[in-house]
Amino acid sequence: MKHTDSVLPAGHRALADVDPEIAALVRAEEVREAESIRLIASENYVSRAVLEATGSVLTNKYSEGYPGKRYYEGQHQVDQVEELARRRVKQLFGADHANVQPYSGSPANLAVYLAFAKPGETIMGLGLPAGGHLTHGWGVSITGKFWNSVAYGVRADDHRIDLDQVRDLALKHRPKLLWCGATAYPRTIDFPAFRAIADEVGAILAADIAHISGLVAGGAHPSPVGIADVVTSTTHKTFRGPRGAMILCKAEHAAAIDKAVFPGLQGGPHNHTTAGIAVAAREAAEPSFKDYAHAVVANAKALAEALAARGFRLITGGTDNHLLLIDLTPKGIAGKPYAQALDKAGLVGNYNSIPFDPRKPFDPSGLRIGTPAITSRGMGVAEMGRIAAWMDEVAQHPIDEVRQARIAAEVRELCSHFPAPGIKL
Ligand SMILES: *Cc1c(COP(=O)(O)O)cnc(C)c1O
Repeated sequence: MKHTDSVLPAGHRALADVDPEIAALVRAEEVREAESIRLIASENYVSRAVLEATGSVLTNKYSEGYPGKRYYEGQHQVDQVEELARRRVKQLFGADHANVQPYSGSPANLAVYLAFAKPGETIMGLGLPAGGHLTHGWGVSITGKFWNSVAYGVRADDHRIDLDQVRDLALKHRPKLLWCGATAYPRTIDFPAFRAIADEVGAILAADIAHISGLVAGGAHPSPVGIADVVTSTTHKTFRGPRGAMILCKAEHAAAIDKAVFPGLQGGPHNHTTAGIAVAAREAAEPSFKDYAHAVVANAKALAEALAARGFRLITGGTDNHLLLIDLTPKGIAGKPYAQALDKAGLVGNYNSIPFDPRKPFDPSGLRIGTPAITSRGMGVAEMGRIAAWMDEVAQHPIDEVRQARIAAEVRELCSHFPAPGIKL
């Protein structure tokens, strides 16, 4: 039977034909991502190649288990995809072992708990208000409910991680598992110092590099691989891959980590994501990715300087990595209304608590921004000056929607000179 385009069998019709509502929303999101300045520190633009792998038929395949040891047949291609992903990630980071199956960063971290600490045992991590992640033992997370969690923080004077406090707390509470790494911390993580503390108390050291794994791969932040017992990361932040995660570990922990991910926590791996991770790891191994990682940091430093010159107060006074945490108190505006005003001006960030924030988490004093996405578009130091000027103007006129619309038009114009990877308008 022959079909004309309009009467193709259901499974062959394009998204726009089958579901115009979703197709229109995807299209609108493409336009939004292309025409705004994405300053959310955890976001990025994946390449067209990563998008293609992620949108492939690999989403159809069940493959519980690991390459060579599956519970379903028909794994000829999938085994090779996962092998390539594991091998590339191991090579890129110099790790003994890699597991690329965790569905996202939070399940990857949960697998580490499952591998190394029984429920009720003590774990330690950076507290959420100090820039730590929910999964490092914060009370509302399963990790703070099922384990006895002790939070360390940052110093009151300079807002840097207080390693003396980490050591004191570790000696007192003897955690099984010690987390380092953060979600809103603009400074270099001192992995060897955490290693020394973990050794002193016999703890497993887990480094969560979800935000900075692209910087680590590109040599723009020191690596915890070979120092920490286990390293977790999302693959969709600075690493610039699909939404997913990876766990790197020393050979002695490989079996425990693999067992914790499957069958401990998950069923079938998301093979389309695994393929996307393999592509991202290949891209990250190219020399241009080193340039990218260093440009992300150079842009963040330039943006920090330009904002400080305009009277913005930066937590810790600046940044070593891709992100900036801004205390808006001196600007006389709170984080949420400011983030909302910026969004109307085409500048997209997120409101965030600052250390020792006197305001509530849903209405905090800070804004978190970062440079991974805008650097992927090729923006550089000159553009950081323009962004700082727009941010200052919005801070001075937070309810002036006419002005915000004018800035949004200027933002669109600037964006037109820096095409967003993966998006064809
Ligand atoms: C983003 C992040 C995660 C969680 O990743 P999801 O993919 O959102 O679950 C875990 N740890 C840190 C430090 C993060 O920044």
